[in-house]
Amino acid sequence: MADQTLAKFLNELRILTMLRTQGPASRADIARHLGVTPATITRLTNGLIRRDLVQELRHASKAKDPSREPGRPAGSVSINPDGAFFLGVEIGVGVLRLALLDLAAQVRTSNEVLVARDLSPADAVSLISAHLAKLESDARFKGRIHSLGVTVPGIVRADGFVINLPILGWRSVDLLSSLSKKVSLPCFVENNANAAAFGAVYTQPSLPSDCTIFLKLGTGCGGAAIVNGRLLRGAGGTAGEFGHIRLSDDGAQCSCGQKGCLESWVNLGAMARHYLGREDLTEPEFAALPADLVAAAAAGDGRAIAAIGSFTHWMGLGIVSLVNLFNPSIVILGGVMRPVIDYALDNVRGEVRSGIILGIPLPDVRLSELGKLECAVGAATIAHHHAFDISRVDVADRGLEP
Ligand SMILES: [Zn+2]
Repeated sequence: MADQTLAKFLNELRILTMLRTQGPASRADIARHLGVTPATITRLTNGLIRRDLVQELRHASKAKDPSREPGRPAGSVSINPDGAFFLGVEIGVGVLRLALLDLAAQVRTSNEVLVARDLSPADAVSLISAHLAKLESDARFKGRIHSLGVTVPGIVRADGFVINLPILGWRSVDLLSSLSKKVSLPCFVENNANAAAFGAVYTQPSLPSDCTIFLKLGTGCGGAAIVNGRLLRGAGGTAGEFGHIRLSDDGAQCSCGQKGCLESWVNLGAMARHYLGREDLTEPEFAALPADLVAAAAAGDGRAIAAIGSFTHWMGLGIVSLVNLFNPSIVILGGVMRPVIDYALDNVRGEVRSGIILGIPLPDVRLSELGKLECAVGAATIAHHHAFDISRVDVADRGLEP
């Protein structure tokens, strides 16, 4: 890419990122913010308007347009949410969840499809491809779906190769390559906790993104770290297995083969052991367990209160270790254990406060706001981010270029 073309492309991405994260702005504001001349910004925004990625906010006069925001100068522009779309898909156990994000990173449509529990990689790719074709036939999205992100609940290499996915019985699957053969869009494959973490931060640009730790609690305990707006992947892409931080020498056998991992103290199995004295629950029983546990604890059930007390203790210890390692500004907790986390949150914060080293800043420990769609939305945000990612720009890849 010639220098001038590259500069134009990078400035376009900077304009789109500013409008997405900070809202509508005048051309003069954009020029000041980006340190570029007003004439250049006018030329670039006009080009983005022609490509439907940006839209003019027309305010002939305040009297004619009562919706005009006070203080918003004429000549303001905003991102055009309909300019491009990004599909995110969560491949779960017995379920596919899909979310379509628009250019403003807002969910426009979502869907949940029940599938076979022993879904094969080939069947997953076919289902995703069929769903994409259906969306493409919708006049609102036709020709505007830019890219596809897919998450799986297991270990994924940085190049989209699924190393191990025991929960679905997949091992050594080149999922990215299979998707790319079937789908004519840029595709990305990511671990589900990484995607959920990325989505939780990306959809809330007002939150600090210097260092965020995410824990996804359910059957397991997935984790991810986002540092300066980027996922911390490690050398091979497998970083963030925080559930396997060992907190004790005893405890239940963990899925990784060790004993005493954080996961084995705070997952659904641990709650079942503490509350019911057994782990052989049916799937519907496991699904109902977090809400049942909270209802029982609220009604004064001693075993439920003890189970949540144990969760609080071990969760607090786990977060303290993560604070010592990462010094995060935010710790976000997501996953199907949400009712338990919500119920225990203040006490978990207390455990963290009393456990961290004196002088280390206390992180903001909070619930993820994305709920059930967190992995699908996260997958879509990874696709969205890639289109805006200045650092990976090269000659061959032109992001949102038509
Ligand atoms: Zn483990």
